[in-house]
Amino acid sequence: MTPIETDTQIKPQLPQSLLQPTESIQDLLETASLYLHIPFCHTRCHYCDFNTFAGMLPLREPYVRALLQEIEMAGTMARHEDGSKRRSRTVFLGGGTPSLLNVDQITRLLQACFKSFAIDPDAEITMEANPGTLNQDQLIGIRKAGINRLSMGAQSFDAQLLKTLGRIHTPEEIVQAVQYARAAGFISINIDFMFGLPDQTMQHWQETLKQALELRPEHLSLYSLIVEEGTPFQDWVNDGSITPGDEDLCADMYEYADELLRQAGYVNYEISNWSLPGHHSRHNLTYWQNLPYIGMGTGAASSFAGRRFSNEREPAEYIKIIKSHRLPDVESEVVGQEQAMSETAFLGLRTAMGLHLPTFEERFGKPFSHFVGDRLHPVEEAGLLEYEDGWLRLSARGRLLGNEVFLRLLPD
Ligand code: SF4
Repeated sequence: MTPIETDTQIKPQLPQSLLQPTESIQDLLETASLYLHIPFCHTRCHYCDFNTFAGMLPLREPYVRALLQEIEMAGTMARHEDGSKRRSRTVFLGGGTPSLLNVDQITRLLQACFKSFAIDPDAEITMEANPGTLNQDQLIGIRKAGINRLSMGAQSFDAQLLKTLGRIHTPEEIVQAVQYARAAGFISINIDFMFGLPDQTMQHWQETLKQALELRPEHLSLYSLIVEEGTPFQDWVNDGSITPGDEDLCADMYEYADELLRQAGYVNYEISNWSLPGHHSRHNLTYWQNLPYIGMGTGAASSFAGRRFSNEREPAEYIKIIKSHRLPDVESEVVGQEQAMSETAFLGLRTAMGLHLPTFEERFGKPFSHFVGDRLHPVEEAGLLEYEDGWLRLSARGRLLGNEVFLRLLPD
C-alpha cells in the first residue's frame, strides 16, 4: 500500500481482555491450539492457492476416518511427560470448505479432539463455511456438536464480482446464511471480504461494507487481493484480461473500511481483522502471539515443542500414510531461539496491541532490547514505533510502512 498521512488510524481502542493476558506466558506455552484442515471444495475459486481440491467429494468419508486417526496419534504425541493430555484453548476447522462435511462427520471430529486433548470448557471452536453450502438443519446440527463460532467467506456483495472470483454463491445466499446461523444460535460470526478486485470501484466496496454492517457480524476480516502464482487470476493478469485495483485505490479502500468500522464500534486489532469488543479470534491470536499449535489434515502446519512441521498435502497420499499408522508430517525444521524471538516480535507487531515487552523477556529470558540491539533506531527516529506501558507497537505511520520495521527484526 502507498503511505498515506492520516490521523484516522492513530489509537485503536483496545478491549482490556486483549491488553491484559489473564494467564502467564509459561502456562500458555504449555497449551496447543488445534487446527483441522478439510481440503474439499465444490470448485476452485479463480484466485485461490490454498491446499484444496475440487472433484474429490467421494473422498470425504475416508478422509474424515484418516483425520480421526491423526487426531488420536497427535493427542498421544502431544501428551505431557506424566501422561496427561495437552490442553487446548481453541479448535479451528478450516479449509477448503469444512461445511461440505455432514453434521455426523463434524461431530465425530470434535468428539475425537475432546477425547485426545484437554479442551477448555469455554474453548473457542470455529468452523469455516461457504455461504453456498449452508442450510438451516446443518447449522443447528453443528452448533449442537459444539461449534460456537462461524467464519464465512463472502468476499463481496456484488454479483458480478462474485462471478469474476469464481465463487459458488450469490449475494442473497450470504444474507440467508447469516440468518440461518443466527437462528441456529450462533452469536459469534466472522465474514471475510476482499478489496482491490478487478473492476471493483470504491462505490462497489462501500456498498459491500454497508450491506456487511447491516448483518452486524461480530468480526470482519478484510483482505486485499493477492494474485497468487499458478492461479487462473495470474494467467488473466498476464494476458491483460483482468487488472486488479492499484495500490492507491487499495490504500483508500482500507482506510475507508477502517474509519467506517471504527465508527460502527469495531476494533482493528490486527492489520486485516476487526471485531466487536470481546469477539477477536482467539485462535488467530495464537498464531500472532507465536504460541504452540498443532495442525492436522492435509498440508496442515504445526508449531510445537520447538519444531515447525507440515503434513502431506495430497488427500489420497495422506490417507495412505495414516493407514500405515504413521504421522503424516513430511517437512520439519527446528526453530532456534533467535528465530523464535524474531518471529514473536514480528507477529506481535502485526497486532494493534503490539508486543508486550515484559512477556517477551519472561518467555526468552532476556530483554527485547538485548535481542534487537540498535537495529530499530532508524525506524524509531522515523516515528514508526511507539512505546506505552511496556507495549511496543507500530504508530499510525508505522502501520502503513510495517515492512520497514519487520525487515529489521530478522535474525542476524
Ligand atoms: S472456497 Fe475457499 S478454499 Fe475453496 S477454492 Fe474458494 S477460496 Fe479456495
